[in-house]
Amino acid sequence: MHQWFLQVKSQFHQSLILCLLLCGSVLAQKQLDTRYLEWEKKLNSSPDEVLQILDRSLPQAQNNNYQLAQHHYLYSQAYIALTYPDKALTHAELGLKAIDKQQFPWLYHKIQIAKVIALDYVGDPQQALPIANQVLTWARQKKDLWLLVEALSARGHIYNAMSLSVNALNDFQEAYQLVPKHGGEINQADIAADIALVYEYRSEDELSVPFFKEAVDYHRENNSFLELSVALYGLGRANKNLGNLDLSQQQLEESARLARKVKDYQGEAYALKELAGMAYKQGKTEEAIQMLKTTHQTFTTSNNKFMLLDTNYSLSRIYLSEGKIKLAEQFWLQAKKYLDPEAMPLQSIGIDELQAKILASKGEYEAAYNKLLETVSKKQKIYTESSIKKLNQFRTQFDLNNKEKENAVLQHENEMQAHRLADQATERQLTNWLIIASFTSTLLLAFIVLRSRKNRLKFEYMAQHDALTNMSNRSYCIKQIKQQLEIHHNNSLLLAMLDLDHFKHINDHYGHAVGDEVLIQFSRIFLSHFDQNVITGRFGGEEFLLAMSYGDQHQLKRSLEQFKESLLERINIAHIPDLKVTFSAGISRCRGINDLDKAIHRADMAMYSAKANGRNQIILHREITQ
Ligand code: GH3
Ligand code: MG
Ligand code: MG
Repeated sequence: MHQWFLQVKSQFHQSLILCLLLCGSVLAQKQLDTRYLEWEKKLNSSPDEVLQILDRSLPQAQNNNYQLAQHHYLYSQAYIALTYPDKALTHAELGLKAIDKQQFPWLYHKIQIAKVIALDYVGDPQQALPIANQVLTWARQKKDLWLLVEALSARGHIYNAMSLSVNALNDFQEAYQLVPKHGGEINQADIAADIALVYEYRSEDELSVPFFKEAVDYHRENNSFLELSVALYGLGRANKNLGNLDLSQQQLEESARLARKVKDYQGEAYALKELAGMAYKQGKTEEAIQMLKTTHQTFTTSNNKFMLLDTNYSLSRIYLSEGKIKLAEQFWLQAKKYLDPEAMPLQSIGIDELQAKILASKGEYEAAYNKLLETVSKKQKIYTESSIKKLNQFRTQFDLNNKEKENAVLQHENEMQAHRLADQATERQLTNWLIIASFTSTLLLAFIVLRSRKNRLKFEYMAQHDALTNMSNRSYCIKQIKQQLEIHHNNSLLLAMLDLDHFKHINDHYGHAVGDEVLIQFSRIFLSHFDQNVITGRFGGEEFLLAMSYGDQHQLKRSLEQFKESLLERINIAHIPDLKVTFSAGISRCRGINDLDKAIHRADMAMYSAKANGRNQIILHREITQ
């Protein structure tokens, strides 16, 4: 029965996708003006620069309301990127005020989504929900695929912020069915990570695993280290909860390593925090304490209050169970300092319960008893409040469903919705959240923090990496080399410049897309051939730079030769089995920061002489000067 239901659902979605794709292409004129589209693209790498452009061109835009609305829309997006949600909200509202809904319905709804996102970040999902519903209804009516996906994703996050995870899952899953599997601005791997996090939040780890895995596989395939680190963190945590401890440890360690590689020190600390918990459970108390102290340091530097609360709480609990009551009390006090009881009612209860335990271990039984009584009544209060809130939300949903019933296509959807509402999972989720009422509910916080961390770091990452191959770009690569030289007190390091042979021919003969694919595969194999301490980057079109601070020139040459051999086997382009990709390379030694430019030039010279010598070979600069 259930199987049948899923099948119908999947067929329904497939026909919806087809219909939307067809209709979408007919109505493709729904987009921002060209210059706004270009600025929107720039948002990914430099939102602050976009703000400056917007400021400069604002007077001009004020002559035309349609332009002014797009202007405010972009302002709103830029402020979200820079995490100023209040400003983002103000500008979304100004944008909506500037245009007439009847005259410009598409833009109006597009800005409504910006408003929904801003309201979510501001912490007002209640106000965001009806707006998201309006946009969704409109996008479905107009069969606007991308607006629909944006609205579903926005509403999914809203539902999640309201801890209505069943609804959140429905939205994410619908969006998942609508977007392409690979590529595109949003694809299934992005949404898979959202779905996985909701399952994790619902403590349904076995369900979250395949979605985390999908995200892991996709980002591994694409060398997106930051996204990979985040997905591995989720997967590692799920496996930990499922009791797959070895696997979990492996995944969390890899997550920490990758986070460090892309300089996401907070990401590293998140993973270490989990590893510390595992170490403690295995009886490695000292190791756990050391790790927690490291994460404490990182979260202090970044002033991450949620995680400082969490880390101090964990340290206090460990010390308490070790019988070190003074230390336990000290860290409990620190944890309390980061607690905002209004905003974190559940954590507040956790802190009180810990205090009760500390009091009891000091023999102050009466005080401990009273503290515990207090927590019981707090829990009850939260339970009642949440139930009323949820009741109202269900009613809103029900009213909305009734209105939508007129639409024949949506009737089917409604039946499914009713099905889901009746689903026991709703109950389970509700009670889970309230009964646990301990620090496991920091999962929600972790979810929120993770999301904003992911967004923020995405911008940083994009500014430092090449979009095609995901390798460090030229400027970031140089920056990393300079840092490396500084760390090693300006000691020398080895450089290699690699340039693909006859690459123009590959482009001309097989097309640019094949050329791109060769660059992607080359980069992936290049990265996997050298260990994490080797700096690599895409220096230009088909030129790559490498820097390593250990080994000698002959060892590097041998290693590059092995890499060159492995390319012949591992580069695999569909329908062109006989394509042979080779490169020529030059090696030089760099003696300190002041020598860097000249050393790159020397590596270049050696590489050119390898080309002149017939290509497909590696030459040391030393050899051409002898
Ligand atoms: P040589 O062996 O002397 O290096 O020959 P070559 O053809 O590789 O050298 P050349 O530098 O003349 O050509 C490099 C070509 O790489 C030219 C450019 O169109 C192409 N190219 C640069 N960036 C990209 C890219 O991102 N994608 C694709 N497909 N081609 C690129
Ligand atoms: Mg070249
Ligand atoms: Mg070349």
